[in-house]
Amino acid sequence: MGQTLEIVFWGVRGSIPVSRSDALGYGGSTSCVEVIGDNGQRIVFDGGSGIHPLGNQYMKEGFPQDLSILITHAHWDHIQGLPFFVPAFIPGNRMTFYGCNQGATLFEDVLKSQMETPYFPVKLSSWMADIRIESIGESVVDLNGMKIESSYAEHPGMTLGFRLDYKGKRIVYFPDNELFAKFDMEKVFVERDMNDEDLDMETVFLEDQKRKFFSFIGGADVLIHDAQYMPEEYGSKIGWGHSHFEMTVRAAIYGKVKHLVLFHHDPSRSDTDIENIVKSSRRIALERGSSMEITAASQNDPRLVLA
Ligand SMILES: [Zn+2]
Repeated sequence: MGQTLEIVFWGVRGSIPVSRSDALGYGGSTSCVEVIGDNGQRIVFDGGSGIHPLGNQYMKEGFPQDLSILITHAHWDHIQGLPFFVPAFIPGNRMTFYGCNQGATLFEDVLKSQMETPYFPVKLSSWMADIRIESIGESVVDLNGMKIESSYAEHPGMTLGFRLDYKGKRIVYFPDNELFAKFDMEKVFVERDMNDEDLDMETVFLEDQKRKFFSFIGGADVLIHDAQYMPEEYGSKIGWGHSHFEMTVRAAIYGKVKHLVLFHHDPSRSDTDIENIVKSSRRIALERGSSMEITAASQNDPRLVLA
């Protein structure tokens, strides 16, 4: 059987691109992930610096029929490649951007503003391609048979996560998401009877968050999730909007994910650090009797095929 979906990691880093020699194994570009269906449909999650080489590849190999670019949020590491996405400047290319408004500011204005003076010399209005910009919230979009559902993440400002369903395969993309921030990890992964009248308000709130998150990621073939921090760093970064890898691994096991891809690597992390995170993550899964596959997103081994 051929491949149904292919995932290509163009940018895997969080916060800021890095070019240190000890970090080039996994890669230093910020968030950008391409998904290609067996029907030729291509979609792109986020426009971090990784979208720059992707645009160059499209220039060489031809632009897809109608590209959809889904932006989780407008922190720099998710949009900083867009002013350098060359296909947007070429007449005849068709592309649609999807993303959420920030309060009263429309998504379209959010995209425009990073290209205003004095931040950038070329305005978004000089994009000569046929461009549509759509505001979405928690919604469902059908892109040529790929069903994309969005859900708000736990991250400063309005931030989305995306779930893609296509021919029985499910990919979930949550690059920036702080899982169950206010709760002790041991308290999170407990099965509870919601009819129990002794549950306190805090626990009811936790169960509500769990229900929403796990029904969204439930049974994903591939979960691409924020794993920016080490558990020992997390204490000083609560509320910053990112998860530590142990929480991410435990959540993916609990959500019966088949393959977890650790993503949004901290800029301070070397290749060896990331390898150690993968080893520790696999150990956690093994200890919990889980056969879930775990890898770290890498620009040098960028392709992941779902048959
Ligand atoms: Zn980010």
